[in-house]
Amino acid sequence: MKKLLFENIDISQLAGKTVILDIDGTLVEDGSLELTPERAEKLSELASRAYVFLATNKPLPERNRDFAALVALPLLTGLRKPDPRIIDRIPEEYKKDLVVIGDKASIDGRLARNVGAKFIYTAHIYKPGDSALTYLFYFLDSVFSVLLRWI
Ligand SMILES: [Mg+2]
Repeated sequence: MKKLLFENIDISQLAGKTVILDIDGTLVEDGSLELTPERAEKLSELASRAYVFLATNKPLPERNRDFAALVALPLLTGLRKPDPRIIDRIPEEYKKDLVVIGDKASIDGRLARNVGAKFIYTAHIYKPGDSALTYLFYFLDSVFSVLLRWI
């Protein structure tokens, strides 16, 4: 299945659902604060339909908080994906109909599996100068995503 960038995914089925949304490589280039207009628009469309919680493993607490403030969305902190206890940070009334959106099957996909959520696997946002190793990593991650359906 062809992966789509976040701005191109279909969110029509996500009304009323709780979405755990990855930041790096999904919404912005790795470690960045810059949302393109297309992604910002998609994010506000998503946030107007669903309950969106950001979750990132990026060890940059200040940047993560700044990003969450910038887009005015709550950030799940204190645990790393794919730890299922991450959903303990979500208020009880939103803990159903979970969907995880992210660019790493090995992290976001496993989180989805661990908490019984649907997984929307997005294409990774590459940046100029990304190494062959980065491309290899995301290729292997796609392979993992296929395995994840069977294991
Ligand atoms: Mg990511």
